[in-house]
Amino acid sequence: MNMDSTLKPVLATAAEHAPAVDADGRFPSEAVSALGTSGLMGLPLPEQVGGLGAGPPEFAHVTAELAEVCGSTAMIYLMHICGAMTVLASPPPGLPSLPSEMATGRTLATLAFSEPGSRSHFWAPITQAKHNGGDDVRFTADKSWVTSAGHAGLYVTSVLSADEPGTVDLYAVQAGRPGVSVTGSFRGLGLRGNASSPMCFDVTAPDTTRLGPAGAGFALMTETVMPWFNLGNAAVSLGLARSALKAAVRHTSSARLEHTGQTLAELPTIRARLARTSLQLEAATAYLQQAAASIAAPDEDTPLYVLGVKALANDTALTVTDDAMRVCGGAAFSQHLGIERSFRDARAGHVMAPTADVLYDFYGKAITGQPVFG
Ligand SMILES: Cc1cc2nc3c(=O)[nH]c(=O)nc-3n(C[C@H](O)[C@H](O)[C@H](O)COP(=O)(O)OP(=O)(O)OC[C@H]3O[C@@H](n4cnc5c(N)ncnc54)[C@H](O)[C@@H]3O)c2cc1C
Repeated sequence: MNMDSTLKPVLATAAEHAPAVDADGRFPSEAVSALGTSGLMGLPLPEQVGGLGAGPPEFAHVTAELAEVCGSTAMIYLMHICGAMTVLASPPPGLPSLPSEMATGRTLATLAFSEPGSRSHFWAPITQAKHNGGDDVRFTADKSWVTSAGHAGLYVTSVLSADEPGTVDLYAVQAGRPGVSVTGSFRGLGLRGNASSPMCFDVTAPDTTRLGPAGAGFALMTETVMPWFNLGNAAVSLGLARSALKAAVRHTSSARLEHTGQTLAELPTIRARLARTSLQLEAATAYLQQAAASIAAPDEDTPLYVLGVKALANDTALTVTDDAMRVCGGAAFSQHLGIERSFRDARAGHVMAPTADVLYDFYGKAITGQPVFG
């Protein structure tokens, strides 16, 4: 399969609808359904379940390309892949067709981790699951932000285990289950098409829908979710940054000061700022590619890449999109350059958990020999 020719029509669809998705704050249904028919929803899933069997580098490439044209679509895609890879890591025996449904795009997946009580500390749900007399558990989980809320078919939901006190369990909760509801709306500064609304999961969940044995949730979060999420979130950040930088180069190379006969890019301060910004983006992109290769073939450096890649890319995107706004002057405030959308969308990455500041703390602990989650 030629990935870029598969991706091209999806990018065209996402680009066409991105301005309206942002302006109206609506879910990018056209792009998500184009992703579904393209096969890319199963990009890193194994061929045995209908996926394409690709790896982290291809996933990072596709996610960054999507972000260049529509940040919301890229984030929805990222959450789907994270949900799907987590299910794949420990398929729940009660839902045997789930992997192939996700691989072929029939079921859109997402993660329902963040809670009002533990905020961005996604590894520490407050919701306690309890046994319901038999093998089922019951829980009422208020989740503060769930991307694709009301659009996803599968919510990978975290709770405190009913069986192993103080540990975390993940359940595959299907949208159609009684007690699954969207409890608010999402009006974000950026990523406005994400539908990242609060949800409540007031459900009875059979043990056979749990991912892995009781108490396995924390390991799934750190060993499966974090590598895919941090890598993909970094790719979204750098895709948004690249989009803003390209637009800034285009604008400053063509906008002229007629009285001096110069373009904006001929001003030394502007071209120097573009150069510095461009180098920051290239350096972060090279690190992203190294991180993707390391996650594909893990060794002792991989945990550091997992911690570092998101923080570096999130902050690079803040700098690059800010500089792109700056060199384009007042024109960047207008929507026609597309830079202000990338600027707003890029603000989300560093506050998405694990937040960039938490990752710096973790990375600092890791390189000084302290326990990361201690
Ligand atoms: C667009 C969007 C989509 C989202 N989608 C999802 C989703 O699909 N699923 C999901 O589960 N969640 C999702 N989230 C939630 C996200 O992952 C975070 O949980 C949320 O953004 C945290 O916001 P908060 O106000 O609770 O942050 P807080 O936890 O209150 O953080 C406030 C500040 O404190 C800092 N901070 C907190 N703890 C530490 C620490 N230990 N060390 C250093 N600094 C610290 C943070 O970095 C931040 O700067 C989404 C968020 C956004 C913005």
